[in-house]
Amino acid sequence: MGTPFAAPPVHARIVEALERIATALRADDWVRARSAGVNPTQLAILRLLDGRGPGWTVKELSLQLGVSQPTATDSILALERKALIEKRTDPVDGRAVRIVITGAGRAVVRAGGEAAGAVDRATAALDDDDQEQLLVQLVSVIRQLQEQGAIPIQRMCVSCPYFRPYAHADAAKPHHCNFVDAAFGQQDLRIDCRDHETADPSVRAATWGEFHKDHHPPGG
Ligand code: SF4
Repeated sequence: MGTPFAAPPVHARIVEALERIATALRADDWVRARSAGVNPTQLAILRLLDGRGPGWTVKELSLQLGVSQPTATDSILALERKALIEKRTDPVDGRAVRIVITGAGRAVVRAGGEAAGAVDRATAALDDDDQEQLLVQLVSVIRQLQEQGAIPIQRMCVSCPYFRPYAHADAAKPHHCNFVDAAFGQQDLRIDCRDHETADPSVRAATWGEFHKDHHPPGG
């Protein structure tokens, strides 16, 4: 009699799957960064800074990247030498220094974003419904990581005070963004929105409750 088939728990196999995808993403990052003349950490910093007018402090950048402040500092110094970022005194706190991207830095972001990587192609190959479902499930995982304090609050709709989940009866566009005063669908949920603001914890919890309740209706 053979050994009964016993797979690891589903959540453990999801992590295994995410690890495979992370490996492919790292390879994609190297290709993109090399084509832009920087390394992956430097390209990640430039992407984080792109479109963020007031810039970020070294501490904020290191938190977003999940690296130590000395590691972030090394990359920032290299980017400064290449004139891709610059340091400015914080207009509110004269002792603080903020890192901002330069025009040359933005050009590098554009250059690094042009090549579609293997993970881009793999996700684009899914049909529209599968892409939408995967997006919503990944938003759920990212939110869990935020609530555990494993990562900073990301600029997603579900943590934004402008987000009104299921404000409309239209199944194609049930959500509403108060910032642009427009309805939008699940497939338009943002992961990194430039207009995002961080809602208070109580508002985030209530918004998630509304979003999750209607996404998983009783008996659904
Ligand atoms: S401002 Fe951006 S993050 Fe906030 S609800 Fe609108 S689209 Fe979503």
